Amino acid sequence: MPTIIDGKKIATDIKNEIADRVKALRDSDERPPHLAIIVVGDDGPSHTYVNGKINACKAVGFDYSLMQFAATMTEQKLVKHIDGLNADEDIDGFIVQLPLPEHISVQTVIESIAPKKDVDGFTNQNFGSIGSKHELLLPATPFGIMELIRRYSIETEGKHCVVVGASRLVGAPLSLMMLEDARATVTVCHKYTVNLATHTKEADILVVAVGKPGLITKDMVKEGAVVIDVGTSRVEDSSKKSGFRLSGDVDFEEVSKIASAITPVPGGVGPMTIASLILNTMSAYESAHE
Ligand code: NAP
Repeated sequence: MPTIIDGKKIATDIKNEIADRVKALRDSDERPPHLAIIVVGDDGPSHTYVNGKINACKAVGFDYSLMQFAATMTEQKLVKHIDGLNADEDIDGFIVQLPLPEHISVQTVIESIAPKKDVDGFTNQNFGSIGSKHELLLPATPFGIMELIRRYSIETEGKHCVVVGASRLVGAPLSLMMLEDARATVTVCHKYTVNLATHTKEADILVVAVGKPGLITKDMVKEGAVVIDVGTSRVEDSSKKSGFRLSGDVDFEEVSKIASAITPVPGGVGPMTIASLILNTMSAYESAHE
């Protein structure tokens, strides 16, 4: 049986650690960290993700503000609002929940966020700090994956890590972290990769962040590999009250027969993304108070 990498438990441990630090702040009459969440429009799955973030703030004792705007909000107004948050000393960090309505440029919005308050770690400056001596606020999902690897004492130095998916939010920054921070040999695959299986079969550590359920089957994985499944897709399931269930990119049932360790979906990487957001907000607060 492989080790099931329990992101839910590790995320709870992290939140408990942060809650203790916030309690100490409150006990000494200091204000707690404050996270703001901007939501534009009415994307269904976003509600679930935002609720998870608000619940995490409540659990650790952070102050939080939810700023909900209509889907018709202009890019200019959104950037003006972000400028206000950048200057607001009572807000330590904020996120703009994605996706945004199509008429708003995600890149423009992200680059209008002050890097020191960019607790999602999306800005060019924070991305560019990966692997440097002074890492800033790291992209939340890859940061969460690295924390899972660290807390499960998974050996990385000199190992071959294959990352499937090269997005700016997950695959690309994770590859850099594995290369620079974890000293792994890294192969990055994307949708133009020819014969994906020849690469995935070589992986000591296989990270999959694509969004295609069932993409990685047992025959594509080396015996004893560590498998991290970032994929989170809704698939129809009439046995569920909601009518859907969440599925990863990896055939969990089959691949877990040969993996040495594997993350489930849900309950693997997902909770760690929120834990990273909480860690980043704490760091942003501490930097502002240094
Ligand atoms: P994305 O922006 O759509 O990127 C997907 C990446 O996969 C791209 O690099 C794409 O290649 C690559 N790709 C597409 N088809 C492929 C194929 N057949 N073989 C190999 N690579 C392929 O998505 P993302 O934001 O990175 O998210 C990926 C998945 O992770 C999604 O399911 C998302 O919901 C999930 N996710 C989960 C969390 C969490 O907290 N659990 C957080 C973030 C994302 P190109 O670059 O060539 O297009």
